[in-house]
Amino acid sequence: MALIVQKFGGTSVGSTEKIKAVAERVLKQHRQGHKMVVVLSAMSGETDRLIGLAKNIQQIPDLREMDMLLSTGEQVTIALFAMAVKEAGFDAVSLLGDQVRIRTSNLHTKARIRNIDTALIHRHLDEGRIVTIAGFQGVTEEGDITTLGRGGSDTTAVALAAALKADACEIFTDVEGVYTTDPNICQAARKIDRISYDEMLELASLGAKVLDIRSVGLAKRFKVPVHVCSTFTENEGTWVVEEDKIMESMLVSGVTYSKNEARITINKVPDQPGVAAKIFLPISDAGIVVDMIIQNTRAGSLTDLTFTVLRSDYDRAIRLLQKVAEEIKAESVTGSENIAKVSIVGVGMRNHSGIASTMFQILAKEGINIMMISTSEIKVSCVIEEKYTELAVRALHDAFALDKENLPIEEAV
Ligand code: ASP
Ligand code: MG
Repeated sequence: MALIVQKFGGTSVGSTEKIKAVAERVLKQHRQGHKMVVVLSAMSGETDRLIGLAKNIQQIPDLREMDMLLSTGEQVTIALFAMAVKEAGFDAVSLLGDQVRIRTSNLHTKARIRNIDTALIHRHLDEGRIVTIAGFQGVTEEGDITTLGRGGSDTTAVALAAALKADACEIFTDVEGVYTTDPNICQAARKIDRISYDEMLELASLGAKVLDIRSVGLAKRFKVPVHVCSTFTENEGTWVVEEDKIMESMLVSGVTYSKNEARITINKVPDQPGVAAKIFLPISDAGIVVDMIIQNTRAGSLTDLTFTVLRSDYDRAIRLLQKVAEEIKAESVTGSENIAKVSIVGVGMRNHSGIASTMFQILAKEGINIMMISTSEIKVSCVIEEKYTELAVRALHDAFALDKENLPIEEAV
């Protein structure tokens, strides 16, 4: 008998019909004798609808009241789910974050889970009930309702799995798992059977939306095995696990891309101590997140500084930097919004050299110019012109043989 935490996302509980189907699915496991804890999101579109209501009243909504409002979405689905279980002749109980005592920080709309009281959950499980818990919410020390930020139900599920020492945490969604790349642009994309926490962290930070990144960090910290799978099929999904639990490691596990970024260059910056600080301080003060940074060395006392920001921050950043450029006597600020970041990710890179250069060769063969490069231990990212994104992704996926299952490292490339 196992203790299993299952989380179902908004599309999985988007109607009463779907909620009944989810209840059936959970009951199948329950009948086999497993203890089931079920975390639900709000019905798809509901959280957006609630945000819309708030904005009809306050342009910048009060954050405490926002949490009060947003937490209602999940209250609806857990109540309906518990009804569906009871209608099928079994027992269930629905619990909100404050009833469980999912304690969080008091940073409204972006709260972090501090600890979870498991006593009440265990009591209900021991009495044979399916326990369904509202995702995405908690309560502060003072008793105020909080939410964890968009997509926060994944984090609720993993945190509960960690606190309950569950045997597994299963995240049900509308795709079959984690893919080697975006199946929408590459037909050869393949579902990955097992992937390490670190790879999943990179993929999530690079834009893979299947798991919320905070939940992956938590899963890694507490070694919670996470199974990402589809609500709508019975197929095995992707297991996110510790690296040493992956037998045949691939050289590269996934190719990903993001079109969310823009590139900015400050041309001919005086090459002196303190200049980078002067440039990036106003940017960080404005809450603009910088990703890749490259400073070139030139002969002489001038240098170019290039970096990327979110595309949605591009105009604001350019305006800020034009002021800064004047102050520090740089020549000009230029940039482009039509860029994309294409990345390869894989723990195989830890022990194999030359992967980055293979990537550059593949892009060169397609005639794609690389504007910026950044690397980490298990990732190489290249900024290219946006119009070549699909071509680059397909070429990399093909060249690193990601369509082939469990190809041992030696046979790849
Ligand atoms: N309902 C929340 C959202 O839409 C939390 C979640 O679904 O994970 O962001
Ligand atoms: Mg989600």
